Amino acid sequence: MSATPSTIVHIALQTPSHSGVGDLLSYASERPLPPGTLVRVPLGKREVLGVVWDADAATGELPDGATLRGVTGVLEGVAPLDAHWRRLVAFAARYYQRALGEVALAALPPQLRDLRPEQLARRLRRPAGKDSTTENAIQTIALSAEQESARARISAEPGPFLLYGSTGSGKTEVYLRCVQEILEANPEAQALVMVPEINLTPQLEERFTARFAPRFGSQAVVSLHSGMTNPQRLKSWLAAHSGSARIVLGTRMAVFASLPGLKLIVVDEEHDPSYKQQEGARYSARDLAIWRGREQGAKVILGSATPSLESWHASRPPTPEEPEGGRYVRLHMPSRIGAGALARVRRVDMNQQPRRTVFSAPLLQAITERVGRGEQSMVLLNRRGYAPVLHCVDCGWKSDCPHCSAHQVFHKTDRTLRCHHCGYTVRVPLHCPTCGSPDIHPMGRGTEQLEEQLSALLRNVQRPDGNPARIARIDADTTKAKGALEAQLAQVHSGEVDVLVGTQMIAKGHDFRRITLVAAVQPDGALFSSDFRASERLFALLMQAAGRAGRDAAYVAAQGTRAEMWVQTYHPQHAVYEALRQHDYEAFAARQLKEREDAAMPPFSYQALVRADARTQEVAQGFLTAATAAAHAAGLPGLDVVTLFPPVPLTIQRVADVERAQMLMESSSRIALQRFLAAWQPVLQATRSQPEHKGLVRWLVDVDPLVI
Ligand code: ADP
Ligand code: ZN
Ligand code: ZN
Repeated sequence: MSATPSTIVHIALQTPSHSGVGDLLSYASERPLPPGTLVRVPLGKREVLGVVWDADAATGELPDGATLRGVTGVLEGVAPLDAHWRRLVAFAARYYQRALGEVALAALPPQLRDLRPEQLARRLRRPAGKDSTTENAIQTIALSAEQESARARISAEPGPFLLYGSTGSGKTEVYLRCVQEILEANPEAQALVMVPEINLTPQLEERFTARFAPRFGSQAVVSLHSGMTNPQRLKSWLAAHSGSARIVLGTRMAVFASLPGLKLIVVDEEHDPSYKQQEGARYSARDLAIWRGREQGAKVILGSATPSLESWHASRPPTPEEPEGGRYVRLHMPSRIGAGALARVRRVDMNQQPRRTVFSAPLLQAITERVGRGEQSMVLLNRRGYAPVLHCVDCGWKSDCPHCSAHQVFHKTDRTLRCHHCGYTVRVPLHCPTCGSPDIHPMGRGTEQLEEQLSALLRNVQRPDGNPARIARIDADTTKAKGALEAQLAQVHSGEVDVLVGTQMIAKGHDFRRITLVAAVQPDGALFSSDFRASERLFALLMQAAGRAGRDAAYVAAQGTRAEMWVQTYHPQHAVYEALRQHDYEAFAARQLKEREDAAMPPFSYQALVRADARTQEVAQGFLTAATAAAHAAGLPGLDVVTLFPPVPLTIQRVADVERAQMLMESSSRIALQRFLAAWQPVLQATRSQPEHKGLVRWLVDVDPLVI
C-alpha cells in the first residue's frame, strides 16, 4: 500500500472522543495530496473517511525507521475542501473546545463516510437531472419604503446587519432581494439562508424556488437539514460544494456547508435557541455565521422581530460616549406589510377566574365567535402529553421516572407513561403501584388534554357551513410520522381546521393567513425560572405567536374582525406581559439589558460551563472540584480574570440513571476565557484519568451556553 511513500499527510478524522489521540494523524501518501482532499485511511482495524489538513515534503519514514500506514483511497471527483471551510472548522473546534477531526467529520454529510471511492464516483457520474437554466427574468414585487431602505443599506454597506422587523414586515422579501442581487452580480456567488426549524424549510424552499428557478434553473436551490435522507443530504452537499447550487436553505448544520462562492448568509429568527447545537460541539450557528461571513468576505444578515439581547446590544446605535456604536448595523422595519395592525393583546387575570379554570369564559367566547365566522384560532401550551404527572389520591404516589429526577408524562391516547428525558415508557397502571388504590388521577395538563377539553367545550359550536368545529393538535407526538406535519399544516392552510392546539412548534414562522386569534393558556411558568434567559425566551415566543394572528390584513378587514393575542395569567401586571401588550420589544430589551449589565451577565460578560456526568452526584462534583483545584495549582493563564463557580447539580439532576453536575465560568474577557479553557483542557483530561474519578461517565464543555 505504501510501497513508495513520498509524502507525509496530516489528516483530520473522527477518533473516539477523549481517546487522547491528537488532533491530526499522520499517514503516508504516494503522491502529494492538496489540503482539503477527502481520503480513506486505516484507523485501527477500520477504514475511515478523513480530510487532508496539511502535508510535509518529507518522506513517510519515521525517525526510527518504521513506516507510516498509507492512505488507502482518494475520493477523486470531489474537489478539495477550500481553505475557508478548513479555517471555519478549525475555528469552531478551537472555540467550542472539541477535537478538530470530530468537528470536520460532523460537518460532512454522513453518507460520505460510508461510500467507497468507486461508489462515490458512480454517484457523481449520474446526471444531475435536466436543468433548464432558462435565464428568465425574476418576477419581483415592489418593496415597501422600509424594505427598500433596508435593501439599499445592505447593498451599500459591509454589515453585519441586524434586520429588526416586526412579524409580517416583509423580512423574507428583503432576504430574497439581497440574494437576487448578489447572485446576479456574480455567476459564482452563493447564498446561505438558515431557519431555526426543519418544518420551516419546505415553505421557504417553495418561496425561493418559485422566485429563482426561472432564472437560475430548478437545481439552483437546495436544502440541508437533518430531516433529509442521507442520499438527499449528500446530493445537496455536493451541489453546494461544486457550486452548482446557488442557494442553500437549511437549519443550523448548514452553517458548515462547503460553499466556495459564499457571498451572503441570512440567519432568520436569529434569536431562536435552536441555532445552538446541544450535543457534541455545542456551536452557535448564528455566531459562526458572523465569523464565517467576516472570514470569507460574505455579508451577513441576522433577522428577527425580537432579536437576542446579544445581537440587540451588538447593534446599538452610536452615542456621544461611544461614537462607533456596536459591531452590527441595525436596520428597522416597524410596519407590517399591507398596514395590518399587530394583534391586540388581551390579558385574562386568572386570579379572578374560578379555581382550576383551563379556558376562561371570555377566551372561550372569543374562540367560539371566531369559529362561527369561519376564522381560525391557535392555542398554545408548552407541554405535550395529557398530563405532566399521574398521582394517587390515597398515598400520594407520583409517576416518577425510575431513571431520572423527573415525572413520567401521562399520554392518554396510547395509555402510556413516558419519560420525556430518557424515553422510558410503561403502560398506565390500573391501580396505584404503591398502595393498590384505583384512585389515580392526572395532575396538570398537556396539549392532549387541552385538545380534549376544547373539543368538549366547543361541542355545540358550528362553523358557517353548519358543520361542527374542528380541532387539530400539532406537537412532537402527532408529527412523528414522515409527512405528518406537512399534512397537518396543509389542513390548517386549507381552512379545514378551526382551532389548532399545539406547542411552540406552531408559533414560529408559519404564514397562516386566516388565524385571527392566538392564545397562550398557561405561560406563567417561565416568569420565575432560575434561568436568566427564561423571560427573554418567553417574550420572544409570545411576540412570535402574536405574529401568527392577522397576517393577512385584507382578510382581517373583509371579515370585519381584529387580530388578538390572549394571555391567561396569574400575573397580569408582569413586565413581560406589559411589554407584550405594547408590542414594545425595545423597552423590554432595554430593561433586560440594564439588569444584565448591573449583574455583569451576558452580553456584558462571557460564560462557559463544564458538565460532568457520573454514577453519583458526589463523583460528578468531585471531578469538577478536583479539576478546579488543579487549575489553580497550575496557575493557568486567564485565571486572574475568570471566575470559577462551585459545582452544582443540574436542574434535572439525574437522567437515564446518570447524575449530572456542572460548574459555571464567567469572565469579562472572551479572550481570557478562551485562553483559560484551552489550557484547562489537558488538565481536565489528566484529572479524569486519576483513579478516584473512575466513576465519571463523561465531561464536556459548553462555551456561550444558552441554558444555565
Ligand atoms: P416576515 O418574514 O417579516 O414575517 P414576510 O416576508 O413573510 O414577513 O412577509 C409577510 C407577507 O407580506 C408575505 O405574505 C409576503 O408575501 C408579503 N409581502 C412582503 N413584502 C411585500 C411587498 N413589498 N408587497 C406586497 N406583499 C409583500
Ligand atoms: Zn397510592
Ligand atoms: Zn427518564
